[in-house]
Amino acid sequence: MLEKANKGMIVTYVVAAAVCLCFLASSVLFMLYVLRHNEEENMQYLYGVAEQNRTALLKQIQGDYQTLDGVAICIGNADISDPEKLRGILQEINAGSSFVRMGLSDAEGKLDLLDIDGSVYQDVDISGRPFFARVKAGENAVSQAIRDSFGDGYILYYGVPVTRDGAFIGALCAVNTADTFRRIIDAPVLNGRGFSNLISSAGDVVIHSSHPDAARAENSVLAALESSDPSERERITGLLAQGESGEFTYTVDNEVLVAVFEPLGINDWFVLSVVPQTVLKQRYNIVIVGIAAMILVACSIFLFLLNRQRRMMAKNKEDLMHLAYDDPLTGCRNYTKFLLDGNALLQSGPGRFAVWYCDLKKFKYINDIFGYHTGDLVLRKMAELFEKYAGDGEIFGRVSGDNFVGIRLYREQGELSVWFEKLRLDLCEQELDALQQMPTALCMGFYCVEENGGERLPLNDMVNRANMAQKSVKTKSGSRCAFFTQEIRSRIHWESELETRARRALEQGEFVLYFQPKVNIQEGNRLAGAEALTRWVSPDHGLIPPGEFIPLFEKNGFIVQMDRWMFEQVCRWLQGYLSAGNPPINIAVNVSRLGLLQEDFVDYYAAVKERYGIPDRLLELEFTESIIMEDDFLFRDTVVRMQQKGFICSLDDFGAGYSSLNLLKNLPIDVLKLDVLFFKRGVDIRRERVVVANIISMARELHIKTIVEGVEKTEQIEFLRRSGCDIVQGYVFSRPVPLAEFDAL
Ligand code: C2E
Ligand code: CA
Ligand code: CA
Repeated sequence: MLEKANKGMIVTYVVAAAVCLCFLASSVLFMLYVLRHNEEENMQYLYGVAEQNRTALLKQIQGDYQTLDGVAICIGNADISDPEKLRGILQEINAGSSFVRMGLSDAEGKLDLLDIDGSVYQDVDISGRPFFARVKAGENAVSQAIRDSFGDGYILYYGVPVTRDGAFIGALCAVNTADTFRRIIDAPVLNGRGFSNLISSAGDVVIHSSHPDAARAENSVLAALESSDPSERERITGLLAQGESGEFTYTVDNEVLVAVFEPLGINDWFVLSVVPQTVLKQRYNIVIVGIAAMILVACSIFLFLLNRQRRMMAKNKEDLMHLAYDDPLTGCRNYTKFLLDGNALLQSGPGRFAVWYCDLKKFKYINDIFGYHTGDLVLRKMAELFEKYAGDGEIFGRVSGDNFVGIRLYREQGELSVWFEKLRLDLCEQELDALQQMPTALCMGFYCVEENGGERLPLNDMVNRANMAQKSVKTKSGSRCAFFTQEIRSRIHWESELETRARRALEQGEFVLYFQPKVNIQEGNRLAGAEALTRWVSPDHGLIPPGEFIPLFEKNGFIVQMDRWMFEQVCRWLQGYLSAGNPPINIAVNVSRLGLLQEDFVDYYAAVKERYGIPDRLLELEFTESIIMEDDFLFRDTVVRMQQKGFICSLDDFGAGYSSLNLLKNLPIDVLKLDVLFFKRGVDIRRERVVVANIISMARELHIKTIVEGVEKTEQIEFLRRSGCDIVQGYVFSRPVPLAEFDAL
């Protein structure tokens, strides 16, 4: 499941990264597109500037031509041979135009120029000027900028042909200062950051703008391009020579300038508009910054969300791991996780590994008596204990309830016992207040991998074997530990053999009824009855004591059948005994916990009793004390119903468990069976006797008869008699005996 989640996470990341990359790539592409588009737009803008200048210049020139053309026609048509008259006309025209001088040349290119201030420059020779040649050929023409020989600065000549009767009679000339043109091209470009010049096809500046940067391009575009590569220069000179427009960049004083040029259509002139690249870029830098900021914000949001998602997924994964692998109560590994980590540990290399299985004795009673809260507390304490004593790299976990498992490294087996002893002592020391009346004890089993031939069983099987070892000492008193041995293994074989044989053994009559007499010590040791105890007489194994098979049958449920079979045997015997005219005798049978839980329990026992015609109050049912713990209410109810059916009910093994004396007063039982063996734990015999004597007297007050069993010594009889005990069952009088022997009694 986790692997699947991991895969899902990886896929999410890949998809997210792909989406992010796509977004970035498309953003960059879009940005490049915008850049390009802007660049083009800017170039267009620059061309627009050149175009505007060109139009303004053309307008100026064409306006001037128009003025001159009109005059030229007048002059051509009318014979104005009188120079004074001509001068008058020209003076009049000049006053209404921007020309500084005017004059009419003869056919050879000689003229008098009439200045705007009234002075006259006579016999100016323009015959050698190229523009005159073109005028002579019938064209309108403007000269190059020429240094003014009658004043400062540069001037330009305009010339239009004057013809009479189809013959060229002279050129009508006008002079404009270069400033007239400069004013036009001085129109601000990009808030005054750029400028326009008028250049020739050779790249030379014809008129430069008065912008401070305009002179930086030297006098020649080609000079400006000197640092550029030759092919670029060739391209530009080519375009200029062919009268085509174009664009280029060049560097002056480390500043990159962008230039476009457009043919003016007059002479070989071009309008050259120049602007620093930075200024051009500024126009679209804002757009770029805007887009970049948007991309950045989008990416940041995306990354933030991705990161949040990642953190959430990591947390989910952690929670999932927690759920899947942690024991919610103690926080340690659960069994699944233990197997996982344990297998890894066992494979991690050489070393002597011991798998241990630990059980807290009587944990069930802690829960029952002190409540689940205390039970949980004890389990947490146990987990803390194992944590505290776990060596480097060692692991442990909780299987269920009070069962813990772990793997411990060791060099020799003795170390494991020492380790267990430390655990035990620590547990004793931190005994919980609430449990002080009931000391807890640990039961631990080890399965040492190396000691068992280093056989690499599945970890689960090793755990089972450690558990078997644990169980082998569970019934012994106090804290115990044990190692899995061949003996345990054979015992387990033996047990499984018993289990498989049980059913046939019952059918084939291998189970035999034994009676142990009960003696009334208050009435001169009179025989008061007997307890029926089962024995398995196996043709292969001889006599098998119940201690060997009863616990197995209790586990696999066969005990119910066995008890019922025993009960029938007792009834049959009693029927025969009574019908032989013998005095009534009380016979007790054992009832297992599982038997009591059967729905037809009361009906079955009552029906059999009826069937054999056994009178009331002869048959006694012994319920073991631990049954009360299981289901107090059911027990009470059953006891009452059985009493109504004529059964005597007794509580067996009182004192073995932890049933409180308090409980006793609410139980409707007839007989209390105390096992003196249970009181033989301590050293102080007197104290035990006080306890036994008090229980007996209390039972007496509650009108409950007491039977003390397990009595072996005669001296105990006297004490019990004085204490008020009614009946004694024990070796002191008789061991359990076969029926024939009992009959003889
Ligand atoms: P229990 O019901 O407590 O039976 C008394 C046990 O104590 C018997 O062991 C008896 O032999 C033993 N005993 C009696 N007097 C003395 C004595 O002075 N000293 C010592 N050391 N022991 C004494 P047994 O017959 O081996 O039975 C063991 C247990 O097996 C019984 O304990 C009972 O719990 C169970 N059991 C025996 N037969 C049946 C049966 O038919 N049905 C069920 N459910 N359990 C049975
Ligand atoms: Ca019994
Ligand atoms: Ca008993």
